[in-house]
Amino acid sequence: MDRQQEFVLRTIEERDVRFVRLWFTDVVGSLKSVALAPAEVEGAFEEGLGFDGSAIEGLARVFESDMLAQPDPSTFQILPWRGKTEQTSRMFCDILTPDGEPSAADSRNVLKRTLAKAADMGFTCYTHPEIEFYLLKSDKPGPDGIPIPVDQAGYFDHVPGGVAQDFRRTAVTMLEDVGISVEFSHHEGGPGQNEIDLRYADALQTADNIMTFRTVIREVAIQQGTYATFMPKPFSNHPGSGMHTHFSLFEGDTNAFYEPGAEFQLSKTARQFMAGILHHAPEFTAVTNQFVNSYKRLWGGGEAPSYLSWGHNNRSALMRVPLYKPGKGQAARLEYRGIDSAANPYLAFAVLLGAGLKGIEEGYELPPAAVEDIGALSSGERRALGHDPLPSSLHDAIRQMEESELLPEILGEQVFEHFLRNKRAEWQDYRLEVTPFEINRYLGVL
Ligand code: GLN
Ligand code: MG
Ligand code: MG
Ligand code: MG
Repeated sequence: MDRQQEFVLRTIEERDVRFVRLWFTDVVGSLKSVALAPAEVEGAFEEGLGFDGSAIEGLARVFESDMLAQPDPSTFQILPWRGKTEQTSRMFCDILTPDGEPSAADSRNVLKRTLAKAADMGFTCYTHPEIEFYLLKSDKPGPDGIPIPVDQAGYFDHVPGGVAQDFRRTAVTMLEDVGISVEFSHHEGGPGQNEIDLRYADALQTADNIMTFRTVIREVAIQQGTYATFMPKPFSNHPGSGMHTHFSLFEGDTNAFYEPGAEFQLSKTARQFMAGILHHAPEFTAVTNQFVNSYKRLWGGGEAPSYLSWGHNNRSALMRVPLYKPGKGQAARLEYRGIDSAANPYLAFAVLLGAGLKGIEEGYELPPAAVEDIGALSSGERRALGHDPLPSSLHDAIRQMEESELLPEILGEQVFEHFLRNKRAEWQDYRLEVTPFEINRYLGVL
């Protein structure tokens, strides 16, 4: 029993915690939870809690289904929304095989492996996500099949007495209560659309925080009689919900992306990292944009990126170098704007960091910054400038992932295969579906 584990056991006793939830994540990023009685926690620390891995998407095959969930004591947290009496708490778990080895199929482990690789190269990775989502009146769409947002406000709008404002206030307080620091929150461009930005933290902690964030946002919405959705593109004619993520690498206390006097104050390491991400983006987009619906966001305008490009202050670019003040070199970072709010954060961060690290290892050259509005160029001009498109559909993304040499390396063969199998099945379901669009368009055709 180590000190952190002892601390958790003591806290459970002192605070009279009645339930301890063990959380982990399946391959598509759904949160899984099992509640333990306090008396069982010590055993779970020592041996893990046994469960049927084959019942969890992407974790195990039926003939090798026994898995163990071992709680990470550093993630112990009381869950305030369950009330002040009979307290409930949670810990994130690592998934182990029956012989106690970290499971290759566990998303959290995939990110840990990538971070270990970064550490071998001398880097600590920090991330800062800007999470967009829609707040709706209910989980049921209106009679026309279109979801009903809670308001008609837009970007940065202040709505006196507005539902979204109360919502953000309660949600941000609750996030702070579970130890998640919020940097900004505001109304976004679409009706009922909001954004909450989490403060920088190391990449594993951020991924855990995103899982907690989604739960908190959903809980608060339900408490207030509304419904929150992280669907990438719930409305055809309003912006989708992105999860722009800022990355930085530190060598000790020094930001490895910062070089005073260089173009955009970007170090060689930053340029190579960005080149790695741009080069491999078509291969990993199935992971950062994992649903059929994700591609409606990427190709549906609303400031979502569609082409490989980077820029200093260019919001059609896939990667952006944010402005920071002179002397604030520690804030140097790179923003990836492709990822959406429905990604599995562990896998998405792993592929983004893995691609960036590959760029550093191999010394990739960064193409020139894009200055124009890339969407406004002709396809010939785009090709000449090297702005290849992101995958146009889940099907296209699957095909490009299948060809990748880097992705099985980052994800491990098992996650790579499970993930592709899951996505092929999703595409198959979709492509056989006759949609309202087709009924409207073709019923009276000819
Ligand atoms: N909603 C846009 C997207 O999907 C981003 C809008 C913004 O934050 N500028 O990426
Ligand atoms: Mg933002
Ligand atoms: Mg935004
Ligand atoms: Mg942004």
